[in-house]
Order: sequence, then C-alpha cells, then structure tokens
Amino acid sequence: MSIDQSGGTPCTEILGAVYAYLDNEPVSVERDLIRLHLQACPPCCDEFDIEALLKELVAKSCCGEQAPSQIRQRIMTQITQIQVEISKQTP
Ligand SMILES: [Zn+2]
Repeated sequence: MSIDQSGGTPCTEILGAVYAYLDNEPVSVERDLIRLHLQACPPCCDEFDIEALLKELVAKSCCGEQAPSQIRQRIMTQITQIQVEISKQTP
C-alpha cells in the first residue's frame, strides 16, 4: 500500500474517511484532500466507486421515497375495489 500519492495521506486514512463520508458521519479528512487522493490513486478510486454504488443501491432498495407512495397507492386501489365489490353485493 503506497503512501504520499497526494499530500502524504495514507490510503487507509482516505478510505476510512470515504466510508465515514458515505455514512454521513463526521470526516476528519478534508473532502478536497479525499478527491485529490482518489484522482491520484486508482486503487482507492476503484474501491470508492464500488462502495458508493453499493451504498446507493442499498439506500434505494431499503428506504427510497418512491416505495412508500407506491405501496400507499396500491392499498388505496385495493380499498376502492373492495368498496366496489361490497356495494355490488349489497342490494
Ligand atoms: Zn490511495
């Protein structure tokens, strides 16, 4: 693992800061320093891209804003269908 790709910050420290940044946790390393390191260090850049993609996918599948409204819409449709069926059955 190489040191001093940019500004003497070790890869481990940069990756740790990236993980913290993705988790919305306080980051001890400046974001500009992270970006500069990622541009200068392909291994870190690769890892950051994969991790960012995974986090994004998990966030979208678990707590995206579209899912609840889709579920609510489906429930509302089902309620309407049930009401129609009940009103048909009742003379
Ligand atoms: Zn690196």
